Amino acid sequence: MAKTYDTGNIFARILRGEIPCKKVYESDHALAFHDINPQTPTHVLVIPKGPYVDWDHFSAEASEAEIAGLIRAAGEVARLVGAAEPGYRVLSNCGEAAHQEVPHLHLHIFAGRDLGRMIGKGE
Ligand code: AMP
Repeated sequence: MAKTYDTGNIFARILRGEIPCKKVYESDHALAFHDINPQTPTHVLVIPKGPYVDWDHFSAEASEAEIAGLIRAAGEVARLVGAAEPGYRVLSNCGEAAHQEVPHLHLHIFAGRDLGRMIGKGE
């Protein structure tokens, strides 16, 4: 089923310049900025500039250039914030089960401390 993109979501508004962000990086296809409520000492969000709801939508419908642009941006951002060493975590919440809050695809980049194991044991 085709995904419906909500053009009023907060990241769409950041992309249109309607609300500010603390920009880390920008390219033709991606924008990265600090998370407003950081979960780790370094917590940056990397988003595609195109209107994609989540990873499922993006991976199915984005162009090769958009996909390469987002992946390269994530690596570049990690280097820019000094996280390539000792390491970092990239995470994307996709949909309801993952508790995605903002319906514009975003990659979280967590760094700045030991991040522990990937995920707790769920029920
Ligand atoms: P998710 O649960 O994966 O959808 O995460 C959404 C993230 O967006 C959260 O970590 C929020 O703190 C972050 N966030 C929400 N509004 C803003 C904003 N205006 N600027 C930066 N980060 C934001």
